[in-house]
Amino acid sequence: MTEHTGGCLCGRVRYRMTGPARFTSLCHCRSCQRATGAPVTAFVGLDAARFEEVEGRRAIYESSPGVRRGFCAACGASLTYEGDAWPGEVHILTATLDDPEPFPPAMHSMMADNIAWFRMSDDLPRLDGFGTGKRE
Ligand SMILES: [Zn+2]
Ligand SMILES: [Zn+2]
Repeated sequence: MTEHTGGCLCGRVRYRMTGPARFTSLCHCRSCQRATGAPVTAFVGLDAARFEEVEGRRAIYESSPGVRRGFCAACGASLTYEGDAWPGEVHILTATLDDPEPFPPAMHSMMADNIAWFRMSDDLPRLDGFGTGKRE
């Protein structure tokens, strides 16, 4: 099984994951925008058992009830998302992988929160919500 590694900006937190992904997406929600400082956030959704910290530990911030965002307490880099609406899953912020190329997003989610000046030219599906009735 293919192993992929990643980590935060300063290198204190390192992780590894194995595929396959449950899903890949780009999230446009306000909560991700605030958490990352970016207009859109790419995710790789995984079974939690496929994710492991190998150096350091993430700090956890509960950004809304039942939602836990993992980040590096030293450099502030956002790393993971876990939510009670997705039991048994870890969603990795794709851009923190050492090689994000193997995980292109398959959809845009939460387009209802998209910032109007942020325009995309791809032809991926664009969902107002998550397509699953869940919130991120
Ligand atoms: Zn760091
Ligand atoms: Zn989001």
